[in-house]
Amino acid sequence: MYEHYKNARNKSWEVLIACGINSLPVDLWKIAKHFDLRIHPYSKTNLIGLLKEDVSQGDGFIVYLDGKKEIFINDKIHCRNRRRFTVAHELGHGILNHDISQIHYRNSEIDSQTDMQELEANIFARDILMPATVLAALDIHTPEEIMEPCNVSRQSAAIRAQRLHELYRRNKFNLHPAERKVREQFDDFIRNYQK
Ligand SMILES: [Zn+2]
Repeated sequence: MYEHYKNARNKSWEVLIACGINSLPVDLWKIAKHFDLRIHPYSKTNLIGLLKEDVSQGDGFIVYLDGKKEIFINDKIHCRNRRRFTVAHELGHGILNHDISQIHYRNSEIDSQTDMQELEANIFARDILMPATVLAALDIHTPEEIMEPCNVSRQSAAIRAQRLHELYRRNKFNLHPAERKVREQFDDFIRNYQK
């Protein structure tokens, strides 16, 4: 379990660094572009008509089309911040090279204890949208404080806040060189941030 957690977390740092992400809210489209992953809203594609009804009711999915990974996001349901989580989650599947031959079209912000690919995609999504080192530098603690700069749902923010509480308690920030690099990349943003 911890290996999956570490794998997804370390990849999130790598991605933030590689894509030059230096401010919140994180620009997910910049990340998609960097990895050549295209994102399609359901409303702008005619493919959805071909899908089973329960797929079109889901959150989104990633699939191979002509050998390329393409992400589809249901833009008809959920608030914008919930959709951001889905985009980040599907980017996670793509970037972590998960087996996407089977379509998973529903995702939960609550972590799966049995499906490690779903778990990894969630860890990745949270670490990309709400980098702990940046939140710590801003002395952010509560879900409300997290929601504001990160554009995430209350549920995502609450899960992050819980984890953050644990990290604060053990003072476990910036131990890994990649995390320190992320922190440095956000220097200007942190300096100019007004709570
Ligand atoms: Zn998934």
